[in-house]
Amino acid sequence: MVRKILICGGAGFIGSNYVHYIVKKYPNDKIYILDKLTYAGNIANHQKLLEESKLIFIKGDIADQKFVSDLFEEEKFDIVVNFAAETHVDRSIIDPGIFIQTNIVGTHNLLMAARDIKIKRYHQVSTDEVYGDLGDGSTDFFMENTPIAPTCPYAATKAASDLLVQSYYETYKLPITISRCSNNYGPYQFTEKLIPFFFKLASENKPLPLMGDGLNIRDWIYVEDHCRAIDVIVESDKYGEIYNIGGHNEKTNLEISKLILKYLKKDDNLIMFVDDRKAHDRRYAMDPSKIKNDLGWEPKIKFKDGIHLTFEWYNNNPDWVAETSNRIILADNIREHQKIYNFKNLKENIKILK
Ligand code: NAD
Repeated sequence: MVRKILICGGAGFIGSNYVHYIVKKYPNDKIYILDKLTYAGNIANHQKLLEESKLIFIKGDIADQKFVSDLFEEEKFDIVVNFAAETHVDRSIIDPGIFIQTNIVGTHNLLMAARDIKIKRYHQVSTDEVYGDLGDGSTDFFMENTPIAPTCPYAATKAASDLLVQSYYETYKLPITISRCSNNYGPYQFTEKLIPFFFKLASENKPLPLMGDGLNIRDWIYVEDHCRAIDVIVESDKYGEIYNIGGHNEKTNLEISKLILKYLKKDDNLIMFVDDRKAHDRRYAMDPSKIKNDLGWEPKIKFKDGIHLTFEWYNNNPDWVAETSNRIILADNIREHQKIYNFKNLKENIKILK
């Protein structure tokens, strides 16, 4: 049976990697992307797949309830994986409103529509940031039953959406799962995030503005390992479960900055310490033993290999880096994209429902 799989936010960093992964793995399924194409979404990541008609792209906003419910009624998807979100912590501190719209209202619209068409699987992509801060000098790890205690508006909206997803399991028996992952690195990450941002600055011999003392710790995982974990969960017979995903690979932001400088053969004195972010969590670290024990998933890519692949990718794709860096707001009209990227078969692959 051909399955209809909808990937919300499939034009962003992790969503793009996930789409590439499942198009290859499930060539007989019908894969759709629903994406608003905010400044962080990049349809050009899928140019080849669209040209080859291996993908259907739908431009739309998950926060628009009528649009979402009409789309689900029309297409009757079998599986929904939701990556769509506003994701930049600093932006959430400046302007939390859009985070509430997309991350909470948008997720709820997807849940209602998924319930109404009796979807077979709804998977919510969440983050370790919902657990809050382990703190300086801590040695423990986030478990799935660690109480959620978000400290910034981004994390609070992700936590709220997780709770809504769980409530739909309890109340309506919606077949849901949630994964909470640590910091991802890899190709296609928007150039405002730490690794691609610092990589670009360092390549141009510009100072790297490192927040606070640079000793905040994050648990880094290669994006393909994250995609594989989501796929394992989506294809499993588990419902109503939360799975932590992590790499057991803790690094300070200072270490990451120095690795970038070393790769580019630049001096460490490019690092410039700047004011710390408000409520900047000190340490995140995941315990991923539940997904290992239940589903046999473990990260495969060693950090030294993954980070090398990542640096090589940014080094070899200067046009992609320049395009995403120059663009804050993407043209909000799909015809603009057609003009910009000149896709051959784009018209046939796009449905504009409103
Ligand atoms: P991203 O910012 O690169 O991509 C987000 C995508 O969502 C973009 O394509 C954007 O256009 C789309 N989008 C935003 N608002 C939308 C809306 N209202 N309707 C439809 N589409 C919309 O984000 P990312 O880093 O790829 O993260 C994807 C998901 O994974 C997020 O839910 C995030 O919370 C989660 N996550 C990210 C990380 C990480 O390290 N990047 C770690 C753990 C979890």
